[in-house]
Amino acid sequence: MAAKKVTLIHGDGIGPEIVRATVRAVEATGASIEWEERPAGEACAEEHGTPLPEQTIESIKENRVALKGPLTTPVGKGFRSINVALRAEFDLYANIRPASILPGIQVPFDDVDLVVVRENTEGLYSGLEAWLDREKNIAESRAIITRKGSERVIRRAFEIARSRPAKRLHVVHKANILKATSGLFLEVGREVAEEFPDVEFHDVIVDACCMRLVRRPSDFDVLVTTNLFGDILSDLTAGLVGGLGVAAGENLGDEYAIFEAVHGSAPDIAGRGIANPLAVMLAGGFMLDHLGFETEGNALRKAIEDTLAAGDIRTPDLGGDAKTQSFTDAIVERLR
Ligand code: ATP
Repeated sequence: MAAKKVTLIHGDGIGPEIVRATVRAVEATGASIEWEERPAGEACAEEHGTPLPEQTIESIKENRVALKGPLTTPVGKGFRSINVALRAEFDLYANIRPASILPGIQVPFDDVDLVVVRENTEGLYSGLEAWLDREKNIAESRAIITRKGSERVIRRAFEIARSRPAKRLHVVHKANILKATSGLFLEVGREVAEEFPDVEFHDVIVDACCMRLVRRPSDFDVLVTTNLFGDILSDLTAGLVGGLGVAAGENLGDEYAIFEAVHGSAPDIAGRGIANPLAVMLAGGFMLDHLGFETEGNALRKAIEDTLAAGDIRTPDLGGDAKTQSFTDAIVERLR
């Protein structure tokens, strides 16, 4: 297959360490990828005067696919979250966050295999916040939910559910309290469900959903929800399968796709060579599938699973003492 061009963003904190590891693993699969490195994030803001330079946006526009490390949003300097800005710029309305059991990791359940589909451009992340008094004692945040925005992400989630063995979907909401916003999302969920009679449809209130997820996660297959609930639920589901170090995400629109870890830049462990590269690496596997390199994506996942199953090498967050580099070496070795 011809080489595919991908925009590569190393990001901040542990970003450069785990993105470098991922590039090595992706290249070891033999997939023909031409990386176009572009800056973004906090370090980039210091160097280029902006956390999201035009050259980075242009590169993604041209390549349509990006793999990115976590980006720190500089606190108190007036920058909007760069992740949120990227999702808005490229209309990446569906954030797909799978959570499934990996071998050799100590977790409370052995039957977790689910996908959280988070609406990525609306809700409480619409950026509509204000102070209601001069003294800044009263604050307001507005959540915008649209029929169109709900419909496209819910339809995407149903398509994912249809492609999976369990074919089950839960719309997660708080429509009993947030009758307009969450109510609209639920109403659209019920409407779209009629187009997918082969998918078992349920709705569940977000608080009950959290309780059920930590008691019987096997009740769930695909969950679709609004932006903030999805952000929180996907950290919970990451916790069910080994934590943030193994949680990968895809940001998908109709034209563009950005692959990344669910976690942030983890400044507490940056530069120490101990970050777990698996979240970005698994995102790299989804990127390979998206580019049509499914065989290479499967090979990467198998190498990761075999390395973990061998049980003797893992990063500290998974209870081991391996460095990012030696763990990556073991995965790359299996791919050769
Ligand atoms: P953000 O606000 O961007 O989500 P955060 O500081 O709240 O960032 P993360 O950076 O996502 O949170 O991570 C929280 C903690 O989890 C980190 O401080 C780190 O200790 C741990 N962690 C996150 N990612 C990894 C990883 N890849 N490997 C090891 N530990 C990690």
